[in-house]
Amino acid sequence: MGSAPAAHPAVHPGRIEVITGPMFSGKSEELIRRLKRAQIAKRRVVCFKPDLDIRYNRNAIASHSAQTLDALAVANFEELKMVLLPMLDTVEVVGIDEAQFFDPSLVPLANHLVHKGLRVILAGLDTTFVGEPFAPIPELMAIADEVTKLSAVCMQCGAPAVHTQRLGSNQSLVLVGAAGIYEARCRACFLPWAEKQTAEQLELPVSAGTRS
Ligand SMILES: [Zn+2]
Repeated sequence: MGSAPAAHPAVHPGRIEVITGPMFSGKSEELIRRLKRAQIAKRRVVCFKPDLDIRYNRNAIASHSAQTLDALAVANFEELKMVLLPMLDTVEVVGIDEAQFFDPSLVPLANHLVHKGLRVILAGLDTTFVGEPFAPIPELMAIADEVTKLSAVCMQCGAPAVHTQRLGSNQSLVLVGAAGIYEARCRACFLPWAEKQTAEQLELPVSAGTRS
């Protein structure tokens, strides 16, 4: 009689998208673009970023090309969870910028959200400034439905750049988003720091409690 199959339960799987690449590759810009499109589609969107990123605006994410989108600044993973979990019944799309600064618990959280049917879009650096995988981005890439790996432009030779080069000898723990301190480099032009301990410092997730 051609009766329609029973409606699938109103549970539909969510989706994990990772946007990665070096600095200056347009990750935040791409995150903003996707979130704005979701807003146009009348999806309920919320966006988070770690509180250390105060380079442009405390309550928005910003790309290097001046696009912005409202974002909630959270000090660390615990605060992210505390703010986000009560919203789960009212949001459909969750964006997280600078995801490399949250701790590895972001991986099970992303899994939790996707099983709730949410679309989760995470943007972050895939490698540190010595060219090593920058947790938890590699793990998030592995469980994602879609990974967008962007390249920047090498500031030395103009080739596609996959690395973030740190310039000068500033020993600060975390330096965020400053042109002039970092530049994009291709493999040939990339010169990671000689001192190994620097890599460990740069990988530290920073929470409000650890800042002086
Ligand atoms: Zn180059």
